[in-house]
Amino acid sequence: MMIPTTVPIDGDRIWSMIENTDKVDDGEVREVLAAAREMKGLSSRQAAVLCGISDPELLSELFTTAREVKEAIYGQRLVIFSPLYVSNLCANDCAYCSFRATNRSIKRRALDQDEIRHEAEMLIEQGHKRVLLVAGESYPREGFDYVLKAIDSVYAAKVGAGEIRRINVNVAPLSVDEFRQLGDHRIGTYQIFQETYHRDTYVRVHLRGKKTDYDWRISAIDRAFAAGIDDVGIGVLFGLADWRYELLAMLQHIRHLENHHGIGPHTISVPRLEPAEGADLASHPPQPVSDLDFRKIVAVLRLTVPYTGIIMSTRETAEIRRETFALGVSQISAGSRTNPGGYAKGEAEDEGTQFSLGDHRSLDEVIRDVAELGYIPSFCTGCYRLGRTGADFMDLAKPGAIRHHCDPNALSTFTEYLCDYGSEGTKQAGEVCINSVLAKMEGSVRARAEEMIRKVRDGQRDVFC
Ligand code: SAM
Ligand code: SF4
Repeated sequence: MMIPTTVPIDGDRIWSMIENTDKVDDGEVREVLAAAREMKGLSSRQAAVLCGISDPELLSELFTTAREVKEAIYGQRLVIFSPLYVSNLCANDCAYCSFRATNRSIKRRALDQDEIRHEAEMLIEQGHKRVLLVAGESYPREGFDYVLKAIDSVYAAKVGAGEIRRINVNVAPLSVDEFRQLGDHRIGTYQIFQETYHRDTYVRVHLRGKKTDYDWRISAIDRAFAAGIDDVGIGVLFGLADWRYELLAMLQHIRHLENHHGIGPHTISVPRLEPAEGADLASHPPQPVSDLDFRKIVAVLRLTVPYTGIIMSTRETAEIRRETFALGVSQISAGSRTNPGGYAKGEAEDEGTQFSLGDHRSLDEVIRDVAELGYIPSFCTGCYRLGRTGADFMDLAKPGAIRHHCDPNALSTFTEYLCDYGSEGTKQAGEVCINSVLAKMEGSVRARAEEMIRKVRDGQRDVFC
């Protein structure tokens, strides 16, 4: 099969769907919400109708529906991960990012392999099991091999029984051959954000380097699939162009992937522009997204692609993060640093960061907060370790059967965290959370979860089904 060299985004169709939402009456909105409750996903037109809601009563119905669907599919689980920035060297010039080549105000650094392993050890000591490896688009002398070695270094890190069990990767678009090499290195998800699907805006904000090529970037996931990577994540950097355009264009991208490869992305990320040193545009987003619209984005995505994970990073404040967990978010980062070497240095020294964070709490504080809200923080890596990825994962996810695995796995990995890393307060909050989740589980799944928790408490580690 020919590998697509671009993804056609039909801008006229998107604008006409957005304009037509003015003509939609309340009855039609409610019909779309009723269709969403069936959890089979929505068409682009239906998603556009939901984007157009402004009436407070209908908005509240949108949020209620999103909460119901989120709860039915994902239960109370929230997957926890941490980014690991290995290098801030970059040959591109993205007007919104501190790592842009023309920014002379930050200190440049590519960690060596020992330093990378040390960063991984710091994350393991906090209790992390899942890492997102991040780099600018320019590697030290060894070229792309640098990224492959970095993956090996992170997997090699061990502290007692602690280890990183899954590495997702967010690096610049690769060739098919490079994607093959990446796939051979046991990665979890390959993640790439188009930043903006609006071509004119894209050209305006990407000023230099390979990233100026819109088509090379948008076709990256096609090359990843062609190379055998079937677990991919996409995203938009919200604030660059009209958020409704971005959301509907991202749906066209998803349909393109489904049509060509039979499967869509595993995750969608929804970063909003945050201030970044030496990148003024980030402090003055051309099309700022209000908190209300941001919640709408999460809710509409949850209803339109119900089985696709939604990732929320520490760019957002604790408050926004809490609100969006209920509306649809399924994965969150915690205790993050966005500068290479940031975990070894600590927060006091934040030289060379990519952008400023909204949530500065430690992993333990986030875990406690999440547990007190009734969510189970999950460090599970079961599906990926058992090869349940791509179409296999979706087949399992769609009828809801995945909960029979995910809920017990979430509880056993949370118990592992509490036993090995939890503070006293977090342990107490965690126990209450675990008992209340167990009480709501049905017979055989509950028995399986209790057995797995017992094994972890007895000292066994890495218990999953
Ligand atoms: N350099 C690679 C690239 O651009 O694809 C991969 C990693 S880049 C460090 C990760 C993501 O950070 C980018 O895709 C972009 O969406 C996001 N980002 C950059 N500047 C940001 C800012 N000021 N606020 C929020 N997110 C930002
Ligand atoms: Fe470089 Fe990525 Fe930042 Fe652009 S977003 S300047 S490519 S690190």
